[in-house]
Formats: sequence, structure tokens, C-alpha cells
Amino acid sequence: MTSTHTEPDIEASRARILKELSEAASHEVELVAVSKKQPDERLQAALDCGQRVFGENRVQEAQEHWQARRDIDGLRLHLIGPLQSNKSEDAVALFDVIETVDRKKIVRTLSEAAEKLGRYPDLLIQVNTGEEEQKSGVLPRDLDDLIAYTRETYPGELKGLMCIPPVDEPAAPHFALLKKMADAAGLPWVSMGMSADYVLGAQLGATHVRVGSAFFGERETA
Ligand SMILES: *Cc1c(COP(=O)(O)O)cnc(C)c1O
Repeated sequence: MTSTHTEPDIEASRARILKELSEAASHEVELVAVSKKQPDERLQAALDCGQRVFGENRVQEAQEHWQARRDIDGLRLHLIGPLQSNKSEDAVALFDVIETVDRKKIVRTLSEAAEKLGRYPDLLIQVNTGEEEQKSGVLPRDLDDLIAYTRETYPGELKGLMCIPPVDEPAAPHFALLKKMADAAGLPWVSMGMSADYVLGAQLGATHVRVGSAFFGERETA
């Protein structure tokens, strides 16, 4: 058999990552395969080897990737990119989990969309643990207020917290802080860790890791 392809072996990557996660933590860690900017044949390869949980950054791209596949048994779609309020209804219609809630206005528009569509995605609040100017996410000092507001007003469930640590800092203190804040609030889910640090995330208590390039291979840059 000859092959001139250098297509990534997704089945092998997936098996390796799942093994690493099971060795890193005694609790269950969900592998969210981040399919943004990946070609369709790789999405299909992931489905073919049993992957069912996927993350997408943008609502429109997620629709292109997943709308026609929405009926696949067990499919779970996570929105992991920033959400604009005018996209709330599209997001509620497509996603099972929205990880990037970061302000009351988004909670309001998601609540309206959920009531309207009768669909109640699980929510995570994104925390800007590094207090970076440009980064989305609620500041740690405003978190309790947003948690209370979400619990009081959202008709579905607030499940946990998510963070993206600053690129130029060690991730561990951010992961530890996020886990501590989730525990303090009684929130069971913690989404932290990407291709470079999903093992660390799992070790520090992640229930969900978001892995793109280590799972699928490098993304298209266009
Ligand atoms: C793109 C992205 C990921 C995956 O990044 P990789 O480094 O390719 O694993 C994870 N989380 C978020 C929020 C992302 O935008």
C-alpha cells in the first residue's frame, strides 16, 4: 500500500489523548474535539472513530459543519468562542453547551431564546482569570454576581466555569484558581486545557478539555 498523503491519523490521536486523560485523572474527563477551521473529511474521520463531542468557535461555521449532522446519535456540540447577543437564538438552536457566557446581557438573550425554542443548553461562565484587557470572560471579582443572576434567571442549567489562561504565563495557577472558584460556587463542570496543556488541565480538575490541533492536526489558516 502506498500513500502520498500526510493526513493526520485522527483515530490514533484520539486514542492517545483519551489514554493520557485517563492516566492524568481518576475522575471522568470529557474530550471536546475542537473542529473549527478543520476540513470536512477530518470531521467525518472523527465521527467514524466514535468521537461525539465537538467544540466550535463561531456560530456560523458551526452551522456549516454540523447543521446537517445534528441528528447523529450522541452528538454534543459546545460553543467555545465569544457569543454576540444577536447570535443567541442561533446558538441555542444548535449547541448543547455554551461555554462562554460572560455578561448579564448574554444570559438575558439566551434565556429569551431558550424559552422561545424550548431548548435549554447547559451553560458555563467564562472567567478572565488573567484579567487581560482584550480577553472575553467575566473578571473574578464579578463572578459571584453573574453566577447568582444566571441561576436566578436562566431557565436551563448553569453547569460550570471555563477559562483560557494568558498565552505568556504558566497555565497551572489559572487552572487551580478556576477549579477553586467552581468548587466554591458548587459548580460541577470545569472546562480548561487545550492542545498544549490538556494533561495539566485534567490533573488540576478539568471535567472538560478542549483539544483542537493535537486531535485533528493543524488548522487551515485561511
Ligand atoms: C481553538 C480553541 C481551542 C483549541 O485549541 P488547540 O490549541 O488547537 O487545542 C480550545 N479552546 C478555545 C476557546 C479555542 O478557541
